[in-house]
Amino acid sequence: MRKKIIIGNWKMNHTISETSKYIKDFAKLLKDEKLKLDFGIAPSFICLPKALETIKDTKLKMILSAQDSHFEKSGAFTGNVSYAQLSDMGIKYAIIGHSERRAMFNDTDEVINKKVKALVANKMIPILCVGEVLEQREAKEQNKVVKAQLKADLKGIDALQMQSIIIAYEPVWAIGTGKSASKQDAVEMCQFIRKTIASMYDEQTASKVRIQYGGSVNDSNVKEYLACEDIDGALVGGASLDPAKFIKLLKEVY
Ligand code: PEP
Repeated sequence: MRKKIIIGNWKMNHTISETSKYIKDFAKLLKDEKLKLDFGIAPSFICLPKALETIKDTKLKMILSAQDSHFEKSGAFTGNVSYAQLSDMGIKYAIIGHSERRAMFNDTDEVINKKVKALVANKMIPILCVGEVLEQREAKEQNKVVKAQLKADLKGIDALQMQSIIIAYEPVWAIGTGKSASKQDAVEMCQFIRKTIASMYDEQTASKVRIQYGGSVNDSNVKEYLACEDIDGALVGGASLDPAKFIKLLKEVY
């Protein structure tokens, strides 16, 4: 049985002090209530140390993820943060291949593959984003596009490593647009992703991989997506920025 997992991708939002306040407010609002799913946030790099400290202070069982991670351990990569630096800080998760990074920061499938490999080799967990743009969906090329991304991004990853990787299906046209994918489109693609992983590895491996849907998920539609057996969670942008709203969304899940 795969445990559901919801991660809030904050992108370039919230300062260090806002991050700390968010986590304290989140803990106060949640009180002693235990959520039956895995949940977490992905703040900017500079906010991660304070976030870690505040999570520890509040005793929240909240996952902390980075929004990216460089594939080299160290070196001349101005402005980047490596998996080794994240790991040393105590960060286990990193979002890799988000469509904004693919589109604006030249994260090609080759670069994404190197990042995924570096993370798993160091026992970290990539949240690998895949998904088609609108023109590809309109041309009914979404399966071909996502399959090619999976094959390229997961090249050289073995079956055991694959089981720890989280895949986030994020149709690019649904991110930050308020135009979420229909439940049917989301579930069909998550099933297709599982089938593709089974063909690349085996059924058992595929059955262990958690596959999230992401794209304009909010407290009104999350329940519908996560009710589907093949959708194991969500990657949430805008609707994760306010602690009360994010808790409301998380509580919708069961
Ligand atoms: C995202 O950034 O991964 C995302 C899904 O954003 P939003 O929920 O705002 O569409």
